[in-house]
This record gives sequence, structure tokens and C-alpha cells, in this order.
Amino acid sequence: MKLRLYFATAMRTLAAAILSLCILVSPAWAQTPDTILVNGKILTVDDRFSIREALAIHNGKILALGSTAEIQKTAGPRTRKIDLEGRTVIPGLIDSHLHAIRAGLTFSTEVNWVGVPSLSEALNRIRQTAASMKPGTWVIVGGGWNMNQFREKRRPTQAELENAAPNNPVYVQLGYAWVVMSRSGFKVLNITGDADLPAGARLEKDAGGNLTGAITGNQPAIVALFDKLPRPNFEQEVDGTKKFFRELNRLALTGVGDPGGNNLPPSEYLAVFKVWQQHQMTLRVTYSLNGQTAGSEIEELQNLTRMLPAGFGDGMLRFNGLGERVTWAMNNNDRPSDADKANYYQIAKWAAERGMALTMHWNNNASVDHLLTLFEGLNKEVPITGLRWSIAHLNDASPQSLARMKALGMGWTVQDMLYFADDPARSMPPVVTAKKLGVPVGAGTDAHRIASYNPFTSLQWLLDGKMVSGVALRRVEELSSREDALRFYTAGSAWFSRDEDTRGSLEAGKLADLAVLSKDYMTVPIDQIGTIESLLTMVGGKIVFASGNYRRFEE
Ligand SMILES: [Zn+2]
Repeated sequence: MKLRLYFATAMRTLAAAILSLCILVSPAWAQTPDTILVNGKILTVDDRFSIREALAIHNGKILALGSTAEIQKTAGPRTRKIDLEGRTVIPGLIDSHLHAIRAGLTFSTEVNWVGVPSLSEALNRIRQTAASMKPGTWVIVGGGWNMNQFREKRRPTQAELENAAPNNPVYVQLGYAWVVMSRSGFKVLNITGDADLPAGARLEKDAGGNLTGAITGNQPAIVALFDKLPRPNFEQEVDGTKKFFRELNRLALTGVGDPGGNNLPPSEYLAVFKVWQQHQMTLRVTYSLNGQTAGSEIEELQNLTRMLPAGFGDGMLRFNGLGERVTWAMNNNDRPSDADKANYYQIAKWAAERGMALTMHWNNNASVDHLLTLFEGLNKEVPITGLRWSIAHLNDASPQSLARMKALGMGWTVQDMLYFADDPARSMPPVVTAKKLGVPVGAGTDAHRIASYNPFTSLQWLLDGKMVSGVALRRVEELSSREDALRFYTAGSAWFSRDEDTRGSLEAGKLADLAVLSKDYMTVPIDQIGTIESLLTMVGGKIVFASGNYRRFEE
């Protein structure tokens, strides 16, 4: 017995010796990089926020970082060398809450007003699009804009839409509360009075009682109105998805957390699945599922996930649990009934038992106790502290709510919705307090209906708290440092899909997801951060976007 044990130990020692010999023969550091980036200012966003000059990539991962001289030594004859010429490199940005799957569906067929500085230019975009379309085809602006971004500080009128597109019905949506359409649009949809509108919507009238051509309503009403519009065909949806992901790459994004959303039933995921099957994903997408049918969410979610265990998928497209709308009854409901909560609890418990992540849309701190009490109760029955659950939005989170989230192991996804607001009663989400309390924070936008998808708009706003109108509704003590804001947008967001060990910072062994910036994020005046773009974006070592001098590298 003893002899046998000795023999086994000896064999193990021998095996270990052989193994270490093999490692010595071909150590990881001796691999020849396929690409090196040199002469740069690489913000690694590692624990100490180290800055390096150069970086080597092999097989989609970062092999080493160091000085230009050190990294140049590792290059072989076939290594591709990219001279950064002093430019700043950041880990690829990750928006922890961007409705990218939905935005992609219509990106090649809708008119984009994101970041357009004037109403006249916005109307020009309608004019140009209409000119290239068949008469009678809908011209649609689905969101992502706000009148405060326009020099004119106002919405378009019906007459202006008709002037820009005389031969096409036009639909322009602002957030989830207001839509204006051309008269031909009303005609095509057979809307002549309030009775023809979805419940909760009304025709807007001016002070003199005249119809303005606009429709106002609550969120479900506007969602239902949008659903009356013709959808793009499948090819357009696939094309739009690819183009939208590339548009995000242009803005240094390499990943998003997709929280489902309105107007996005399960059938609408086919376009992103197609892009994934074609191996043409240029953005890492982790997605969560929403409850779709009021009252039968649990059966529905159980059916949808029977063959979709937590974490199913790959590095480009992965299932990441439930939310942001888990049940309709708890969605935007500040006063849920006991029955609403019992129903929700049943789903949350089922998700917890399966180790699923869950992200929950909640707007107001005043009512978030309903949700937190429910989660605290559940945590006693089925622990959720290791499941990376989160709350999205909650812009006025109190330190007490954040402390309760921390105790539950929950994270917080923060968006720049307030960038479009002009409400002095509200202020910056308290991200500095959250950081102090140790609550994981992921940054993002909530694009594209509510907000612009531009991460640099959101980063600038995290630093200065200025609304699009230029008004600073500052709570100075909650303004982020440049380092923290970048960390929220990278490693911070990676946490929500358990990816912080593989991406979100530039360290040896991690994925080569990165962006070379047009301006130095660390030193450019804060009010110019919003104008930064990527010159070269890589996902897993592959160049997915390049412009200017770097275009020759594009694969
Ligand atoms: Zn939401």
C-alpha cells in the first residue's frame, strides 16, 4: 500500500517534471506575436491604471505589454507592426445597457438623428433619405435624439416633415412620449381621431385647439404605435445589424450588454443569430431575455430557456439571463401590488435556482424598496449574492439603496439619460458614492430610442455632468475622474457578464479588444471628449474598423 503510494507520487513528480520541461521549451513569452502596436500611450485600465508604450498580440490575445524597444524585440519577420505615433489606446469600450439587437434591425432603414446639431440638418437627412426611396415608403426616425441637442431647441413640425419628404409618409419618435407624423402617415395608418390610436395615446392640440400632427402618450401606447409601422425585411435587418455594430466599432465599442426591450419579441433575434452564424460579429453581445406577455411571463421564460442555460453561447454572442423587463406588472410600476410582487418573486426564484443573471429596469429610488425587499427575501431562500444581478437606471439611487445592493452582491448599470434631461430636481447618478461603497458600476447609454449610443458623449457627461443644453446640473461630489469613468465603461461593464478576467483591461492573457483614439482621452479638454472617435478598433486581435492611415490594415 505504502509502496504503491510512493510509486504514484514518484510518477506524479516525473510527469510534473516533463510538463515543466515542455513549458521551458516553448514558453508563452517566446511565441511570436502576429501584431504589435508600438510608440503609443496605452491606458491598460489594470488595477493601477498603468500606462504602457507598446503591446504584442498573438492569436487574438495580448501576449505582452512594455516599452516599444521591449515589444519590438518580440516581433518576427511576419509580425504586423502598427505605429501608434503617440496616440492613446484604450481597452474596447463596453456599454452595459445598449439595445443593440433592436437598434441593428432598423439601422440601415431608419434615419439617424444621433448627434445631429441642428433641426435643419436633421430635416436634411429626411430629405436625402426620401429622395433615395420609392414614393410611399416610410421615412422613420426611431429615437436617440432630443430637441435640446438642436441649435433651434425645438421639435420638427408636421409641415417641415411634409416639406422634406413630400412623397413619403414620415414618422418621428421622441423618447417614449411623443411622435409626429406627416398627414400621409396618418392616412396610411388610418388614424383620424383618438379612437384610432393605441390606448393611452392622444392627438396633440395646440393652445387654439388645432391638431399639431403630433401624438402624445405613455410608453406602452408609443410602443404599440411603432408596431403599426412596416418592419424592414430580413435582409435589411441583417444588413442593419452589421452596419450598426460597425458604427459602434467606429466609436471604440467592442462589447455591449443587450437588455432586450420594447418592440423586440424573440422572433426579432434571428438577424443577430444570422450575423453570428456567418462569423461576422464585430461586437461582443451578451443578451438577456424580457418577459413578453403580461401574466404568462414565467411559462414563457421557462419555455424560451429550456435549451438556453445560463452562459450559453460563445465569446461573440452569449445568453446572460433575464431582464431588463422581467414582468410587465413590475415594469415602471412604483406601486406594485402584492400579487405583482409574488409573481415576480416566483420568476426571480426560478432564475436564481438556475444560476441565471438578472437585470432589472427601475427608475425611482423612492419605490425601489419594493424590489430590494423582494430580493432580500429571496436571498434568504436561494442565495443571489454570487449571481451578478443588477439594477439598470435608478439615477437618484440613495446611499442606503446602494448599500443594500452591495450586500446582495448586485451591480448597477448607469446611463447618460439625464444628458438629455433638463430637470434641476435630478442630478448625476451617484457613481462616486457607489464606487466608495464597492458596488460594481457599468457605464452605458440606454440607446437607441432614449439616448445616443455614443460612448464618448456618456463619458464626457460622467466627467462634467453637463446636459446637452450645456447646463451643468452638477452634484460636484459625484463627478467621476477620467480613470474611474473609463473603468466603468470597460472592466466595470465586463463584470455584469462575468467577463472581467478576459476583457475590460489590457493585460497579458486577456483578449485583444482595444481602440486607438483620435484624441488623448486623458489630456483633451473635458468638453472635447464627446468628439473622440476610434481610428482603429480591434476585437479579439482582428481589426474591425480602421480609418485614415490605418485603413490599409483593415481585414
Ligand atoms: Zn430600461
